Amino acid sequence: MKKSKAIAKYCKECCGDSHKEVTLCHLIDCPLWEFRFGNSASNKEFWERMKRAKSYKNDYPKMVEALRDHIQSPDFTLSRGRYEYLCSKIEVEMKIGLGRLKCLK
Ligand code: SF4
Repeated sequence: MKKSKAIAKYCKECCGDSHKEVTLCHLIDCPLWEFRFGNSASNKEFWERMKRAKSYKNDYPKMVEALRDHIQSPDFTLSRGRYEYLCSKIEVEMKIGLGRLKCLK
């Protein structure tokens, strides 16, 4: 099995075999987060699927709120890995304000 497929399979198992829950995963600091769809955040298909999360009318706003809370929590640091890149991409592609300045203070 290719690594990308193995990661997508692992993420699906992590989310109780739910395609929807994988899409709505807000744990951006999980090392698999940007690979959870079987591609990467450098791939435009990744962002197309992220945008499709908006069709989950009740759960999408909750995911955005959980993502903001997570990023602004004291334990989250933007200096780790690619999170600065990922946060910037989320803000641009998803048009979500993450309030990142707060956690840089
Ligand atoms: S990114 Fe991490 S937390 Fe999210 S579904 Fe995959 S393994 Fe689970």
